[in-house]
Amino acid sequence: MRDIDKIYVDGAFVTPHGTEQFDLFNPATEEKIGTVRLGNAEDVRVAVAAAKRAFPVMASTSKAERIAMLHRLSDAVRLKAGDLIAAMTEEYGAPAYFTGFSAQNTASIFDVMAATVETYEFDRTAGSSVVRMLPLGVVGAITPWNSNFGFIATKLAHAIGSGSSIVIKPAEQSAIQTQLLVECIHDAGLPSGLLNVVNGTGPVVGAELTTNPDVAMITFTGSTPAAKIIQRAALDTMKRLVLELGGKSPTIILDDADLDTAIPTALMTGFANSGQACVAGTRILVPNSRRDEIFQRLKSEAERLKVGVPTDPQVRIGPLANAKHWERVQSYIQLGQQEGATLLTGGEGRPGGLDKGWFTRPTIFTGVSNDMRIAREEIFGPVLGVITYDDDDDAVKIANDSEFGLQAYVLSSDVARATRIAEQLIAGRVVINGAPHDPYAPFGGFKQSGIGREIGAYGLDAYLEPRAILKPTA
Ligand code: ADP
Repeated sequence: MRDIDKIYVDGAFVTPHGTEQFDLFNPATEEKIGTVRLGNAEDVRVAVAAAKRAFPVMASTSKAERIAMLHRLSDAVRLKAGDLIAAMTEEYGAPAYFTGFSAQNTASIFDVMAATVETYEFDRTAGSSVVRMLPLGVVGAITPWNSNFGFIATKLAHAIGSGSSIVIKPAEQSAIQTQLLVECIHDAGLPSGLLNVVNGTGPVVGAELTTNPDVAMITFTGSTPAAKIIQRAALDTMKRLVLELGGKSPTIILDDADLDTAIPTALMTGFANSGQACVAGTRILVPNSRRDEIFQRLKSEAERLKVGVPTDPQVRIGPLANAKHWERVQSYIQLGQQEGATLLTGGEGRPGGLDKGWFTRPTIFTGVSNDMRIAREEIFGPVLGVITYDDDDDAVKIANDSEFGLQAYVLSSDVARATRIAEQLIAGRVVINGAPHDPYAPFGGFKQSGIGREIGAYGLDAYLEPRAILKPTA
């Protein structure tokens, strides 16, 4: 049992004013593994005040100082990678392949920002004016539970890179993971008040952060419905917003695709992070000309993917994060059948042999049309819909016919042809043939997948605003 009873304010772990407790569970066993004491609005106000005091210190740091802080952070995270992986395994239930990537990625996020700061032009000219990119003030960050380390690291890295201070409200379900990461960050010795972390719920801690007049900007990763509440709340104080939201990403299998590689790639993309990934390729677009062959391959490959406890290295799909979410995903599996789609594999209930834990059967629907709710709404679990298309133009049309526009995938034996398709897709990122993660590429979505971009110079742009000084001509 781990009882998290402190929040992190002004460089110290302190007891929050809030007294409410929230239980923490192991999703693979459903056992209670700890509690977290939740902060309240007063805790946010105290944290924001600390961040406000730290802001001028941060804003006046040099590039070299910011880079040094970022490298200290990546070193601190690497040193504790084993502990972070263990906490993520227990509290989140992600399979080993994902927890390993996540710890590695968390450290490299700081290094990537350090490299970005190195080349970013804070001082520019426009016409005859002198322009400087200035940080906005205190940043408020709100993060979800599906990649707790990565999101906290991303928000913090951008704050440091831009010369801002930050108050983070992480997902309360991830409090053990948050505590370990913040302990690492504390060890890196940042200026007091630069980072403040307040555990709490969205409607209490999140709401105060999004309305507090001393918060200049909100950076949020989470669902589109929560983002709409946040955007409205942030309106009166005119906060700047970066919103990284949901997706219903298409994976287009072109008719020349090599199925030996395309099918495993499509499945790993769709079932990424046990389906709890905003970037998951959940609509698989299949050419009618190869329909039967592809359906059969999708079914047999999907049934080979092992679902189970995260400590088993063979496991590719772990449990869903919590009971409420499990119920929600189950309801979508029922909905797909009610809407007239056909179960190619999977279905309701737990996979055989797993009676405990929030495990879901990896599910693929065929006979899906793009106007069904299972094709339009984000399910956030291992549930994929297969939609058939006639030709490339039809595939592009279906892919773009979505309220979302976060990510898209193209699979083909011909990279030039795949690139021509990619150029027609409305998505923040288009990945060809399972290309590896690019930590420098901008990340974010079109349409209801969000506002703004994170990562690299595009990410820094969102945390900065230009001030131009116009001098009289001599
Ligand atoms: P999830 O279903 O993944 O929890 P949400 O978008 O609801 O997705 O949550 C993402 C983050 O947003 C969490 O930290 C959550 O507490 C927070 N959140 C939810 N609702 C609000 C809100 N009304 N105001 C501010 N933050 C919120």
